[in-house]
Amino acid sequence: MKNKLWVGLVISIAVAFIGVTYQKFLKNPHCAFDGSAVPPIYEVDIVLKDHSVKRFCSIYCAVQWFKKNNQRIDHVLVTDEIRGTKLDSYIAYFVKSELITNETNKNRIHVFQQRQDALTHAEKFRGEITDDPFTIDD
Ligand SMILES: [Zn+2]
Repeated sequence: MKNKLWVGLVISIAVAFIGVTYQKFLKNPHCAFDGSAVPPIYEVDIVLKDHSVKRFCSIYCAVQWFKKNNQRIDHVLVTDEIRGTKLDSYIAYFVKSELITNETNKNRIHVFQQRQDALTHAEKFRGEITDDPFTIDD
């Protein structure tokens, strides 16, 4: 019985360690615009035509970078802030509301996969649905 407990403990420590290492080194959690940490729930990934990926901490930062590099961009992935799933920006719902996601840049744009979630947020935080800020000119 005691042995089993130890094995369980060692396994959970190992799993936690691997998780932390993975996030630190492979996920590169720093914003490509302002260098701040990228909260997974607000992450924006801009995929370039050469298949490299730029990560951003907020819609605000991603939009700033997007405007200057429009020609190099293939598509943009945003994160549904309810479920944490990534989706293409053109199928996401964007809401501009009074709730700030990022104290540094005062980002007020929120991303949702479901229209209902977007409407609920808009109602709760006095927001409104806004256009996809990442429209790519072909
Ligand atoms: Zn940023």
